[in-house]
This record gives sequence, structure tokens and C-alpha cells, in this order.
Amino acid sequence: GRRGRAAMAEQGAASRPPPDVDTDDCLREYRHLFSPDILAGQVAFITGGGSGIGFRIAEIFMRHGCRTVIASRNLQRVSEASKKLVAATGQQCLPLSVDVRQPQTIVAAVDEALKEFKRIDILINGAAGNFLCPASALSFNAFKTVIDIDTIGTFNTSKVLFEKYFRDHGGVIVNITATLSYRGQALQVHAGTAKAAIDAMTRHLAVEWGPNNVRVNSLAPGPITGTEGYRRLGGRFAEEASQFDMIPLQRAGNKTEIAHSTLYLASCLSSYVTGTTLVVDGGSWLTSANNFPAMLGIASSSAK
Ligand code: NAP
Repeated sequence: GRRGRAAMAEQGAASRPPPDVDTDDCLREYRHLFSPDILAGQVAFITGGGSGIGFRIAEIFMRHGCRTVIASRNLQRVSEASKKLVAATGQQCLPLSVDVRQPQTIVAAVDEALKEFKRIDILINGAAGNFLCPASALSFNAFKTVIDIDTIGTFNTSKVLFEKYFRDHGGVIVNITATLSYRGQALQVHAGTAKAAIDAMTRHLAVEWGPNNVRVNSLAPGPITGTEGYRRLGGRFAEEASQFDMIPLQRAGNKTEIAHSTLYLASCLSSYVTGTTLVVDGGSWLTSANNFPAMLGIASSSAK
């Protein structure tokens, strides 16, 4: 009717964020923008799916007909998340414990997922660890741990999924990376290096696995509200409202926006897209401050 058409014609609608909640809870209301059955019958394996961005990706996928496996180290965390996801969406969600640094735990989880669902169509590599730290204060082990979880964990999980299912059936992989390395972000040599290596891995695996009908892409979020990453890395900085002046779209992003872009990359909407990185940051990395002394002040005050 007239009201519907008027709403569709609202100015600026193409950059207005969908509603979100800052906690690890499901959305109270959801309006489908993509076709609600775009992932019907499919199964997604989501590492880091018990919290933050990974949790919202699981929810949005389930709202589009997908069954999910959410996997991380803390079984209680993914079990509680799974209950919320099932209650909100009516889809199945299998919570499993994995440490992406330990391939045998991934093998066990993928075996269990295949036993339960008989198929896996989508892999989201979302598991990661991060904190602010100057390179000189970073222990050898801290640097290695971030590479182990982010980079090697992404390789381990992708390889297990490929060998156990994608090689013979095709599939799609979305690696959640970051823009940290694009401008050498202060206090982030560990995570920036780890995520840059994942973006390289995305291209290598897209080339090698393309003939098996496996698409591989990265999605690089900017500052996203309601996440551990935002609270730890950007919170205080971003609380000074003027920080948003630096971002072309003048605001932080939310988890639903990342989930929608991930849905694009994981679905048939992007059927000819492989080996690329989709930056979802409101233009942030182009203009954001990279002020090493200022960031050092934040790091030392948050360490207190
Ligand atoms: P988060 O809630 O802390 O998500 C990280 C997840 O990884 C947790 O669920 C954690 O669960 C899991 N994890 C950590 N180590 C693991 C391991 N060894 N094995 C298996 N799972 C492990 O943080 P988030 O901010 O939503 O971040 C999600 C992704 O987006 C990350 O890849 C992050 O780098 C990326 N990102 C976030 C932002 C942002 O603004 N938040 C910006 C750029 C990129 P357990 O503790 O249970 O293992």
C-alpha cells in the first residue's frame, strides 16, 4: 500500500543499520531482507559461534533456513548459545567443543556434525583471539598464540572440512579477518599479521579448491558494537563521540550488518565470487587514526 511504498522510499535507507542487541542474545524482532529460504536445507559449521559476531551469524543463517554447528573451546558457552538460537529460530543447532589449534578436536567435531546432519555446506572461520599490546611488550608466546588460533586454526579447520566433505560435495568458506594490517594499526602487530596471512590463505585456497566448487572469501569487519573485540579494543576510544567523525559513515557497525554480509558471501547470491576480501567497515580503515602514542595511553589505562 501507500505506507509500504513510502517506507521503501525513505532517504538514506541503503546505509541505515538494521536493529541489533549488544548482548549475546537473539534479536527481539527481525525483518527479512534476503529471501527467508535462501539457506533452506543447508548446514553451516561456525567456529566462534557462541559469542559476538559468530553468534549473530549463526542466528541470521538459522533465520534463513540453515541448521548450524557452533564450535569453540567452552562447551558451556556454545551450549547456552545454542539454546537461545533454537528458541528464537526454531532451527537445529549443534553445540560442540573444539580448539582450532588441535586438529584432532576439529576432526572429532566434524565427524559428529556429519553424523548428525549428513552434510556441511558452509564453513565460517570466526574463532580468534586479540588484545592491544605494543610489539616490544608482547611475549614471544603471546604473538605465537594469536597466529596459532587465527591463522593456523583457520587452516586446520578449512583442511579438515575440505578432506571430510567439501572436496567431494563442494562448499563455501568465509574467513572473518580484519583491516588491521592495511595501515599497520598501532599495538596490533600480532592480530594484524595473523589476519593478513588469512587473507593470503583465502586466495591460495580459492585457487586450489575452485575446481572442487569450493568458494573461499574473507570478510573484514570494522568496529562492531556488542562484541568482545569492540569492548577490548575500541570501546574507550570510540566512546569519545568525536571518534566517529573519522569514519566515513559516522558510526560503528553492528553484528547484524556483519551477519548480512556474511550471508551474501555464504549463499548463492555470491555464486561467482571467490578469492576476495569484502571489507565491511563503513569506510573506517581509509580514514581511522593510527596514533601510536595515543593508543599506548589507552593500552596502559585499560591494563590497570
Ligand atoms: P569473540 O566474541 O571473542 O569471538 C571469538 C570466539 O572465538 C569466541 O567465541 C571464542 O570462544 C572463540 N575461540 C577463541 N579461541 C578459540 C580456539 N582456540 N578454538 C576455538 N574457538 C576459539 O569476539 P568478536 O569480537 O565477536 O570477534 C569475532 C571475529 O570477528 C574474530 O575473528 C575477530 O577477529 C573478528 N573481528 C571483530 C571485530 C570487532 O569489532 N569485534 C573487528 C574486526 C574483526 P571460546 O572462548 O569458547 O573458545
